[in-house]
Amino acid sequence: MKIAVLVKQVADTAARIELLPDDSGVKLDGVQMVLNPYDEFAVEEAIKIKEQKGGEVVVFNIGPVSADEAVKTALAMGCERAVVLRDDAAAGLDACGIAEALSQMIKREEFDLVLCGKQAVDSDTHQVGPALAEKLGFPAATFITSCAAGDDSVVVGRDAEGITETLELKYPALLSCQKGLNEPRYPSLPGIMQAARKPKDTLTLADLGMEPRSKVVVKGYSTPPPRAEGKVLTGEIPDQVKELVQLLRNEARAV
Ligand SMILES: Cc1cc2nc3c(=O)[nH]c(=O)nc-3n(C[C@H](O)[C@H](O)[C@H](O)COP(=O)(O)OP(=O)(O)OC[C@H]3O[C@@H](n4cnc5c(N)ncnc54)[C@H](O)[C@@H]3O)c2cc1C
Repeated sequence: MKIAVLVKQVADTAARIELLPDDSGVKLDGVQMVLNPYDEFAVEEAIKIKEQKGGEVVVFNIGPVSADEAVKTALAMGCERAVVLRDDAAAGLDACGIAEALSQMIKREEFDLVLCGKQAVDSDTHQVGPALAEKLGFPAATFITSCAAGDDSVVVGRDAEGITETLELKYPALLSCQKGLNEPRYPSLPGIMQAARKPKDTLTLADLGMEPRSKVVVKGYSTPPPRAEGKVLTGEIPDQVKELVQLLRNEARAV
């Protein structure tokens, strides 16, 4: 079984995010960067399937050089090797452009399964997985919470508005993974030491014969208006209750 797993490096969700002075992007200097949490489920599932059925897991990433750290985490968890695209011209690619580049990277070999996260927790578009499946011509199941890999097909469960949908997909197929699928393992110390020595193929857009093409251009970023300060009521409880009712009625218009 040959499995491709997609990983993106994102800002830690606990990090305080600020915009650049010209609002053209997010200030990432000094921000803790991590492997996208939903990609951890994808990496774990890929390794579990390989442990059951044999084969290899190849990590794919497009991003700045600093994204090598996220790739290293996936290799330390147990993936065999990595293929990355490092090219400043790819920095402004939209989700479809990223899916196109990933499809060209993946098509250089034959894979039975492609696993990715359901979304990247920074730009949050949920588009890369389904767009990539379309470009590869693979059937796709999104937001999976269970997975049983057979010899010719994979059976997955996905939560859909209070019901669980069970789907069977013939290989090759793409699955996007979400919380509940598994418990991602921590990289072991030997895994961390081996990760630096695992093979990594570094490509550019020119290697793929691609021009950077985006149909969506980000025009700017803005933060929501600051929330008004909360009000603390003082005095006797019955007076506070009266004032609260007035405020709910007249200011919050809640009653
Ligand atoms: C030089 C350079 C700089 C970049 N800088 C940024 C940046 O600052 N911020 C930013 O958000 N993006 C950056 N990117 C990456 C790219 O713009 C995003 O991947 C793209 O916006 C799609 O992300 P998404 O959030 O829409 O993905 P979603 O569709 O929400 O992601 C779904 C899943 O697709 C997979 N996936 C998504 N993106 C990638 C990827 N790049 N590589 C491998 N798998 C992926 C993951 O498994 C993810 O869980 C950079 C790329 C390059 C080459």
